[in-house]
Amino acid sequence: MTIFKKIIDREIPASIVYEDDLCLAFEDINPQAPTHLVIIPKKEVVSIDDLGDEDELLAGHMLIAIRKIAARLGLSDGYRVVTNCGPAAGQEVMHLHFHLLAGRKFSWPPG
Ligand code: AMP
Repeated sequence: MTIFKKIIDREIPASIVYEDDLCLAFEDINPQAPTHLVIIPKKEVVSIDDLGDEDELLAGHMLIAIRKIAARLGLSDGYRVVTNCGPAAGQEVMHLHFHLLAGRKFSWPPG
């Protein structure tokens, strides 16, 4: 079981900022920007690579949830959404998640 599943099940605490029937958003414990949230599906999916065709609604739902969270937080100056897929891309927690980062200037290409 991943640490994110434990957050979903309320077995460990997190600063939860958004929740609906399909997904959950909470503050990253090691923030890389003034605003750094993690958005996860409640369904146990390892990464974007493990989304099935049947997850089309879930995947879209998560992006719309991110848009709602960004609006609620007033991130009108812009924000970055990142998902690391697999160890080579930097994924450490094997439960699909989107990072929502804002509050500073971001460079491109990412490191
Ligand atoms: P990734 O490297 O893309 O797998 O990102 C995992 C993220 O989860 C990192 O930014 C961690 O700081 C964050 N993280 C790990 N454990 C926790 C936790 N218990 N609560 C909040 N964020 C966490």
